[in-house]
Amino acid sequence: MEAMNDIEKTQQAIDILRKSRRIVALSGAGISTEAGIPDFRGPGGMWEDPALFDRLSASGFSRSPTEFYKDSVKLFSKFAKAQPTAAHRLLVRLQQLGKMQAVVTQNIDGLHQAAGSATVYELHGTYRTGRCTKCAAVYEMAEFYSEIESGRLEVPLCSLCGAPIKPDVVLFEELLPVDAWQSSLEAVEKCDLMLVLGSSLVVYPAAQLPVMALSAGASLVIVNLEETDFDRMATVSVREKLGEFAEAALAALQ
Ligand code: NAD
Repeated sequence: MEAMNDIEKTQQAIDILRKSRRIVALSGAGISTEAGIPDFRGPGGMWEDPALFDRLSASGFSRSPTEFYKDSVKLFSKFAKAQPTAAHRLLVRLQQLGKMQAVVTQNIDGLHQAAGSATVYELHGTYRTGRCTKCAAVYEMAEFYSEIESGRLEVPLCSLCGAPIKPDVVLFEELLPVDAWQSSLEAVEKCDLMLVLGSSLVVYPAAQLPVMALSAGASLVIVNLEETDFDRMATVSVREKLGEFAEAALAALQ
């Protein structure tokens, strides 16, 4: 049998979207690059600087919250200005068609909620809220970030006990939030399609989800610019910019 070309793969993926009734999407940093938020592993991605990786880890935060905030605020301020992309909107369209079960995301940027997705499991947390490292009091973080950016503040401190406040993002060396992970597993068990958008699928345990979906009898569609280790297992893998794929799918699913 002749291999499918890119246009045929896109078409096949859209046909699967049309037929599916219980979709779980798994999104990674690649769904937000077209909103101006860099991914970690692409060229120029943050991974090219090992010292930065260390400063953004849990031990880096404990050692120096000041250094942590100096670096992370640059990324967080990009999140606050970003608008959802066509791919975020595609998932909302699928929701309006009654096909979406859940969005499982590795992103912390809040763009799925901004687009209007109703059920979002944030496996790596969110930058929008934070909590005190001592008494666990919860804070909205936006005001702190703008004060850090303008040089008026170095580290947000708890108004109740004075300890540093840490954003609710899952740092390297930390465990995933149990509730979000459990809910993701339950959704995957019931899905008939796992739609992976913009993830290199190298971060575990999120990268286990496509295999679990296949074992549960679901189809697997992967849309990513680069090849992933899971492409050969996929029902179809589309190597295309998500914006182009999503615009084509949105037009077909009017
Ligand atoms: P990743 O950086 O490992 O992979 C992103 C993938 O998306 C790459 O394979 C890349 O080829 C692809 N990609 C980039 N732009 C694309 C586009 N326009 N169309 C199609 N594909 C595109 O990201 P990951 O697998 O999500 O894991 C990295 C970790 O970094 C995550 O855990 C996440 O928490 C964190 N992160 C989050 C954000 C965010 O919230 N937006 C940004 C950077 C990193």
